[in-house]
Amino acid sequence: MNKDDIRLTPISNGTVLDHLPVGTALRIIEILGLEKAEDAVTVAINTESKSLGRKDLMFIEGKALTKEEIDKIGLIAENGTMNIIEKKEVKKKEKISLPKQASGLIKCVNPKCITNIESLPTKFTLTQNPLKAKCQYCEKTISGEEIFKAIQ
Ligand SMILES: [Zn+2]
Repeated sequence: MNKDDIRLTPISNGTVLDHLPVGTALRIIEILGLEKAEDAVTVAINTESKSLGRKDLMFIEGKALTKEEIDKIGLIAENGTMNIIEKKEVKKKEKISLPKQASGLIKCVNPKCITNIESLPTKFTLTQNPLKAKCQYCEKTISGEEIFKAIQ
């Protein structure tokens, strides 16, 4: 066992999200609606990581994430890892990356934006370093903490 393997029972079937930036796990629970999950969700916050210093980590029993859910997580936990667990074994491991586009992933923060008035699906253009999302309708640009909060 290396230092990154924490003392938690691995799940039997489901998803492990690892190497999440500290402070993102609880937001991911909200984004994925896991407060209402029927199966166990185990979360480690601010745990030690060899590569990151500190990280959040979560085990989600009985759930495979949709592409849209992975894209939403990619907006706040780029470079995290996702492990698909089947019968207690890692079936697939992949890096979480920033989505190519953010249509429907973020709510526009501009109350006068047509996407809020007519409840249209949002469309955002993303730019990196630092991450910024620009609404294609009202041209409002949001970044950092605002993106964190605006993920729907
Ligand atoms: Zn807008």
